[in-house]
Amino acid sequence: MNPSSSTSASPAANAAPEGRPLVTPRVLTLVFIVALALAWGWLPEFTVSVLSNIGLYALVAVGLVLLTGVGGMTSFGQAAFVGMGAYATAWICTSPTAAGWLGGIAGSALVPWLGLLLGLVLTFALAWALGAVTLKLSGHYLPLCTIAWGLSLYFLLGNMEFLGGQTGITGIPPLVVAGVSFATPRMLGVVIWAVLLLALWAMHNLLDSREGRAIRALKGGRLMAESMGVDTARHRIKLFVLAALLAAISGWLYAHMQRFVNPTPFNLNIGIEMLFMAVVGGAGHLWGAVLGATLITLLKEKLQDVLPALLGTSGNFEVVVFGLLMLFVLQRFADGLWPTIARLARRWVREVPRAAGAGPAASTTAQLAQRAVPAAGTLLLQADGVSKRFGGLVANNDISMTLKAGEVHALIGPNGAGKSTFFNMISGVDDPTTGEVRLVGQAMSGKPSRAFASLGLGRTFQHVRLLGQRSVVENVALGAHLRAKRGWLAAMLRLDRAEEAALMAEARRQIERCGLGAHADTPAASLSLGQQRVVEIARALAGQPSVLLLDEPAAGLRHLEKRALSELLAQLRAEGLGILVVEHDMEFVMNLADRITVLEFGTVIATGTPAEVQANPRVLEAYLGGADDELLEDAR
Ligand code: ADP
Ligand code: MG
Repeated sequence: MNPSSSTSASPAANAAPEGRPLVTPRVLTLVFIVALALAWGWLPEFTVSVLSNIGLYALVAVGLVLLTGVGGMTSFGQAAFVGMGAYATAWICTSPTAAGWLGGIAGSALVPWLGLLLGLVLTFALAWALGAVTLKLSGHYLPLCTIAWGLSLYFLLGNMEFLGGQTGITGIPPLVVAGVSFATPRMLGVVIWAVLLLALWAMHNLLDSREGRAIRALKGGRLMAESMGVDTARHRIKLFVLAALLAAISGWLYAHMQRFVNPTPFNLNIGIEMLFMAVVGGAGHLWGAVLGATLITLLKEKLQDVLPALLGTSGNFEVVVFGLLMLFVLQRFADGLWPTIARLARRWVREVPRAAGAGPAASTTAQLAQRAVPAAGTLLLQADGVSKRFGGLVANNDISMTLKAGEVHALIGPNGAGKSTFFNMISGVDDPTTGEVRLVGQAMSGKPSRAFASLGLGRTFQHVRLLGQRSVVENVALGAHLRAKRGWLAAMLRLDRAEEAALMAEARRQIERCGLGAHADTPAASLSLGQQRVVEIARALAGQPSVLLLDEPAAGLRHLEKRALSELLAQLRAEGLGILVVEHDMEFVMNLADRITVLEFGTVIATGTPAEVQANPRVLEAYLGGADDELLEDAR
């Protein structure tokens, strides 16, 4: 398995067991909600308050599942955002000036809602600012930074006079809606769980959308996503802000449940616990957040009872036991508990696969953006004296070449000649040290790869870059990212269905065209490496490119598959695409290419038609080390 497809699912794990499932996850979710609603009025006071706490934690953990499990960013500082939400409403509801003044204008029942608004606005601004600074950091620096600002915010809350210092703020009023007071946990718990379920629904919708596919690519697929036109830096910040907002809402509800706030519940410890919840529950799964919040909240209750009796009241042993448990869970269940539970339940609970082509709400259709096909012979891509140095190594040395609409141009040369490096230069993945690249007439120096994508450049990677656990059709749909425009909010509210149906239909069309129709709904990682390369071609085609860059597309394909690929590329050429292909299979290249450029040690040593190149003594000498017969025999 190649290392670049970040997650690899074994085919066996994904194969559905025999027989039909008894229920779908949707039905099970409804049963859960109805059961909870029916039981709510009868549960003991204590249970209700524990459940309310679970709901509050789960709301934060949902954000962390998105951020950490899906987006690949770890935050230990989430409790600080909960604190912002709580303190904002606490201050506005109790400060004599703010509450008196606002209460006079808006009526006192509305003041908590202004508190929510204030909390969200402050959190938004702060999270955006923090995100813009810290999310640029990679590796361990990001989690370390979240610890730093988690601590800072905590101390800030405790040291501000007007927020009551360490004592905090008391006398926060309950929520009152239409004359009904939500003062008791039994009343407010309904709101908490309603908000949580709403958040789960919205986040589920978000992940199941165009933007959701971009979000999933943030973890381990950023370079690829950028090449599909996704602004990954912006998506990271937005995801970070979204998680922070969920935490702030939880803080707002918390403040109106407890009716007082002090800094303690918002310290780093709690931030770490919240991350535990997301990770133990199953960091990549939204319902894992609820599971994790439930388990850890219940466990904490139990430990608080049991440990003092066992070990005395002097030490804070919970933290130790917690840490050990965390180690155990992560050892045994690296992806958290939810996937394990889901796997065990698969015999009874399973999504019935959608019929191919029948997307949701397919009755209303949307149009994807279309790109005009350039006239044959139009100059699409032009490299002028492109050089790339890696330290002392000259990987590309003064390369000039062109690609026109309606031609296949092959780039060949021995391993290490600099072909992949050149691909990166002309697709914006990396900048040339010197020289210039022009795409459809525009100078591209310093532009990111998503700018190349938006001008109509589609590409594949020599080392396949797919989201291994997502289906082929989802991977291919990511290629059409720029042809649709519905954003996060539309996705959360399910207003993107028509566009989503169009994206899915387009993805299936390209998969069909590339001969992988039978595999559209299988996880990409369960395909052979050769087929995964073809998925990459389909993904590039979904973007409706006018320039197609293929890095060793035929590697790993069987003879018939190679022939099908060759026919597909010839057809695309006839449609007016300009195709630049790096390939080692000489028969494939010689039969397909209109022009060939030969690289050796980063330098162009020959360029011309296949016949010219094959007859070029320099090529025979350099590329074949003199052994020319083989190549020429092969090609005939
Ligand atoms: P090809 O695709 O023709 O096999 P590459 O473009 O991958 O060749 O590599 C050309 C040369 O540049 C090789 O010697 C390779 O080791 C070097 N190279 C490629 N990428 C990097 C990098 N990021 N840093 C340093 N050296 C690199
Ligand atoms: Mg290469």
